[in-house]
Amino acid sequence: MSEAGRRPTIGVFALQGDVREHLRVLTDLGVRATAVRRPAELDACDGLVIPGGESTTMAKLARTFDLFEPLRQRIKGGLPAFGTCAGMIMLADRIEDGAPGQETLGGLDVTVRRNAFGRQVDSFEGDLEFAGIEQPVHAVFIRAPWVEEHGPAVEVLARVDEGPAMGRIVAVRQGPLMATSFHPEWGGDARIHRVFVDLVLDHRH
Ligand code: GLN
Repeated sequence: MSEAGRRPTIGVFALQGDVREHLRVLTDLGVRATAVRRPAELDACDGLVIPGGESTTMAKLARTFDLFEPLRQRIKGGLPAFGTCAGMIMLADRIEDGAPGQETLGGLDVTVRRNAFGRQVDSFEGDLEFAGIEQPVHAVFIRAPWVEEHGPAVEVLARVDEGPAMGRIVAVRQGPLMATSFHPEWGGDARIHRVFVDLVLDHRH
């Protein structure tokens, strides 16, 4: 594990998805940000971001590259992780409307509904209240999941606050795990990543 005082290293799962945007935001926040494609690269990480992309492909590639079990074990062992969109699906214990046999890494005691907002609202943007952040955050949703139900240990950080999906849960936290249905890596607002970096710092041994 990491020595106290050292800059934390935050990995970004990089076999698939919008990796570069996360690396940029994390680097701007002053942490060491590194792409994770192999188990050895995961070993060096104090925290992990799982980006948006396609969760079925992510799970398959993680299997192919022998990263699936190491990821699952590290998360089980308390590695702070932040999933955005497809990454939220990867961290969920249960999926609705998953592909047949779709696997997740799990960790978050939630059921996520994949592509929950429906085809007609493939993507949309809006401003949301986010727990612990003063001014609303701008949220970009692309074929996004939402959290259908969750266990008692899960804290709701944000809900949709207008339109047909009003009230739907789109950001959660459970201990060192955090997930958003939307893409905070797009739009030049680093405040949600800052929340995650603080969480990583809090969980360093
Ligand atoms: N619909 C995608 C999935 O199921 C997620 C979309 C995204 O990450 N932008 O994985």
